Amino acid sequence: MPDPTCIFCKIVAGEIPAIRVHEDDRTIAFMDINPANPGHVLVVPRGHAPDLYAMPADDLAACALTAQRVARAVRRAVTPEGVNLVQANGPGAAQSVMHFHVHVLPRFQGDDLKLNWGLTPGDLEAISEMAEKIRDAMAASDAT
Ligand code: 5GP
Ligand code: ZN
Repeated sequence: MPDPTCIFCKIVAGEIPAIRVHEDDRTIAFMDINPANPGHVLVVPRGHAPDLYAMPADDLAACALTAQRVARAVRRAVTPEGVNLVQANGPGAAQSVMHFHVHVLPRFQGDDLKLNWGLTPGDLEAISEMAEKIRDAMAASDAT
């Protein structure tokens, strides 16, 4: 059941724009508009659940598989030195959107990224270019 006040439900429904890199029956993945590093992607279930505690098993499993596929594509497209999956629950964990999501976060040695990174708007053109590369890599990894 979508939550009418939830920004990610609106993205899932196509009511507000997002730069998507993947979609399937249960999940979508789109570029974070405040990328902590280039190639930062969010994986979300289509169904609304505020956090990990509330996630139905099928959607949780689907998000894990999508996160793996996106991480592989990010590794191929962005060639980072590492990738973190980050998933926040509650204000102490810096959760700012109450619709479950997994951050696929490219990492570089010396980037000095801390868990509660601040939100800084990214350049839309650069984010779109990164998305194009990740989409191409998703297609390539679909083939293998
Ligand atoms: P959290 O802080 O809850 O772990 O992560 C929420 C993420 O959602 C943040 O990284 C933030 O940049 C991202 N975000 C918030 N609103 C939007 C939006 O409207 N579009 C996109 N693409 N990302 C968003
Ligand atoms: Zn929602």
